[in-house]
Amino acid sequence: MPKHAITLIPGDGTGPELAAAMQTAVEATGVDIEWHPVEAGSDVMDKYGTPLPDTVLESIRANKVAIKGPITTPVGTGFRSVNVALRKELNLYACLRPAFTLPGVKSRYEGIDLIIVRENTEDLYAGIEFEKGSDGALGLIDYLDSHGASVARDSGISIKPISVEATRRIVRFAFNYAIANGRKKVTAVHKANIMKHTDGLFLAVSREVAEEFSGSGIEFEDRIVDNMCMQLVQKPELYDVMVLPNLYGDIVSDLCAGLVGGLGIAPGANIGDEMAVFEPVHGSAPRYAGQNKVNPTAIILSAVLMLRHIDEREAADKLLAAVAAVIREGDQVTYDLGGSAGTSKMAEAIAAKIAVS
Ligand code: NAD
Repeated sequence: MPKHAITLIPGDGTGPELAAAMQTAVEATGVDIEWHPVEAGSDVMDKYGTPLPDTVLESIRANKVAIKGPITTPVGTGFRSVNVALRKELNLYACLRPAFTLPGVKSRYEGIDLIIVRENTEDLYAGIEFEKGSDGALGLIDYLDSHGASVARDSGISIKPISVEATRRIVRFAFNYAIANGRKKVTAVHKANIMKHTDGLFLAVSREVAEEFSGSGIEFEDRIVDNMCMQLVQKPELYDVMVLPNLYGDIVSDLCAGLVGGLGIAPGANIGDEMAVFEPVHGSAPRYAGQNKVNPTAIILSAVLMLRHIDEREAADKLLAAVAAVIREGDQVTYDLGGSAGTSKMAEAIAAKIAVS
């Protein structure tokens, strides 16, 4: 019997070619994995009538671990993001997005080593939205009006819930991650000066949790999100682990990806108490689909996080070292890293490095 059964969601757009590249690189480590491929995304709408068939959730619930390629969310149509739905359905409440400098990647910065911990289940991503002119929107506007809050009648409305329980859970996750990984500081990021009852709550609960961890040696501080963005651009070396509500986490993690050389190399993980789904930060880059062109590094580094999660640390270290070596040498890398290799060639070069290590 294979040691690990892992659900594989290739996704759509450039997802399938990236997932295949990731398999090539991971298999070179010799880890005993049985892949369970399942289909999700816009390409399977016609076949299953939904972009997220039950088989996907069942497979992840059974295996507890999945890795996925990106999935397109068409703008302005009925269906909500499959990525957001997966995180909510499986209660993958913590989104972990490390951003670290890989030598050889062109970037304006050196020595970046940041961890983003993004709350994954609530905030403006909760999906509580009322279309302009709908009964829900007009009813809510009337209700607000009767409570002295005036909202233009031609408004669409998105609701931003932030709860004590979900905040406590994500901030504890950030502290526990910091302790387990030898980090020094947790910074809570918010806009509590303006949104007192949502971000204000996030800040207050973060402070309470920091008290619980006061003996851990992990320093705690907070930053207002706009200031945080400026500080990250000016002096990223001052920061370590950051914990953020959903929307700011999404935005700040792209900013951090930019600090280390772009989305092509930014890995991610969505983690709950029972299950975890690993995926790159970037989207499906549909413009490049089927061209064997985009960078497989982000999904391969997501696999490094996955290997650590399943306690295959040696394989994870080998894979990371191979990625770093191929990027440092620079002649088998994709266009975004200044090379001309295709997706599969770069993955093969990484696999070959592991074979000789
Ligand atoms: P995107 O990340 O797909 O692409 C933006 C640009 O980044 C690309 O045009 C490309 O220049 C670059 N890029 C992205 N991935 C790259 C890679 N691996 N190698 C080299 N360059 C890369 O962002 P988008 O265009 O805003 O989104 C496209 C679709 O993906 C949308 O439908 C969006 O909703 C979806 N999306 C999915 C996820 C996910 O699956 N978790 C995440 C973000 C966006």
